[in-house]
Amino acid sequence: PAAGAATEESEALRTLRRVFGYDSFRGGQREIIDHVVAGGDALVLMPTGGGKSLCYQIPALVRKGVGVVVSPLIALMQDQVDALRALGVRAGFLNSTQDLDERRLVEAEFLSGELDLLYLAPERLRVESTVRLLERGTISLFAIDEAHCVAQWGHDFRPDYLALSSLHERWPDVPRIALTATATEATHTEIATRLSLQNARHFVASFDRPNIQYRIAPKNDPKKQLLQLLRTEHTGDAGIVYCLSRASVEKTAEFLVRNGVAALPYHAGLDAATRAEHQARFLREEGLVMVATIAFGMGIDKPDVRFVAHLDLPKSVEGYYQETGRAGRDGLPSTAWLAYGLQDVVQQRKMIDTSEGDEAHRRRLGAHVDAMLALCETVECRRVQLLAYFGEKSGPCGNCDTCLTPAESWDGTVPAQKLLSTVVRLKRERNQKFGAGQITDILLGRKTAKVIQFDHDALSVFGIGTDLREAEWRSVARQLLAQGLIAVEGDYGTLVLTEDSGEVLGGRRRVMLRREPEKPARAPRTEKA
Ligand code: ADP
Ligand code: ZN
Repeated sequence: PAAGAATEESEALRTLRRVFGYDSFRGGQREIIDHVVAGGDALVLMPTGGGKSLCYQIPALVRKGVGVVVSPLIALMQDQVDALRALGVRAGFLNSTQDLDERRLVEAEFLSGELDLLYLAPERLRVESTVRLLERGTISLFAIDEAHCVAQWGHDFRPDYLALSSLHERWPDVPRIALTATATEATHTEIATRLSLQNARHFVASFDRPNIQYRIAPKNDPKKQLLQLLRTEHTGDAGIVYCLSRASVEKTAEFLVRNGVAALPYHAGLDAATRAEHQARFLREEGLVMVATIAFGMGIDKPDVRFVAHLDLPKSVEGYYQETGRAGRDGLPSTAWLAYGLQDVVQQRKMIDTSEGDEAHRRRLGAHVDAMLALCETVECRRVQLLAYFGEKSGPCGNCDTCLTPAESWDGTVPAQKLLSTVVRLKRERNQKFGAGQITDILLGRKTAKVIQFDHDALSVFGIGTDLREAEWRSVARQLLAQGLIAVEGDYGTLVLTEDSGEVLGGRRRVMLRREPEKPARAPRTEKA
């Protein structure tokens, strides 16, 4: 029979069944696999848990030679290789954790054709001897996993990834497949350019994760709010809690332990052995809560993570999506919960202001935060907004807080004007700038020590906002910020006007605000034991 697509396809399917024990391909897997088996380059965008690995593992088994997989996840290579070996796949890896003997052994296996898959840390490819080794063997394909690591301004940038563009020059006939769970158009374009994959076919899977329930709450007492969530909905469940700083990771983990939750800290300040131990325990034991900075999670394949909680605002919607995506890989109901407050924005702006890179870079970072804020303050379905960010259209999901407990919207033009006028007064009459806390105290007519010290009780705006409660003023401030009608500045998060503030002050623009539901949304989950 002719060696056409049909036989190749059935060989791929046979491999799926025989080696991996699955009945059928999922989502776009078959198309991708056919394309790569036939020698085409591919850029694969698929959410976490979508089944990217098979997209290169099966072509590597079907095609002649060794599939070379470039992955930054050195800590996980041993596990990945062990898992493949358990299935009878001849896999090996080369990275810096090995001694010379171990490396020699793998190299010998590679050269004698005893391997189907070889996992490589990207920095290996910068070593000339590795490149010469590869040139002496037969390579079936290059798979570039976590391909977004090549994106220069992304949060996972690895300089070693830049060298991967030369693979194409050295091995023009070997197909390359780049894979990532990062979803924005800008990142795709950057991956394609930097890896010289302009002619690759793009495969974009839906990024919806229907089993994840998205919820975003105003931050009051985040640790307590978290504990409440765990006690009411996630007792004994495995989960990840993300905090921005190492200090808050430590404090939060201690707090949880003190309150009877089995929690472990994870951040780059812990030594490698402790990190490895905590990661291993999280993967192995049931019901552990990992409290971590974003240093934790990439490549972690734990199917039953039941919740991901953010105690601080993520830096971008992409980051948020990636991190929440670690929940519910097994497809069962899971929670993505985030608490955020104005202070988060102040902190992020501060970090952006002091970050490396040029003005354009800082502007880009600012735009990321703005998009994240918009997601937090939307009155519409969170999922619709999240997917729209990735260019996907969808309808209200019924499984996010705004769908479950629709947020009422209200005309906040007058409160917005009051708040903005206070900012104007302070600036014009006294050349002062203050943060949201002081502005709120002025609006509420509170004679605090700081109000008296600065004589703010003499301002005409003093006490003009007693119709709203403090939490409502905080919400107004957050939303004005999300809508770009005020901005925060400097170390103390002082409020300043934006170009658009004038329209509100002049009564030419109505401001619609979201009213926080009295009772926060809860998962309608009754079947849980
Ligand atoms: P990703 O790398 O995209 O996050 P994985 O490749 O780790 O996802 O796959 C996620 C899970 O789905 C794994 O446990 C994998 O074995 C399983 N899986 C992948 N493809 C299939 C399939 N066609 N049928 C059944 N299970 C699959
Ligand atoms: Zn929804």
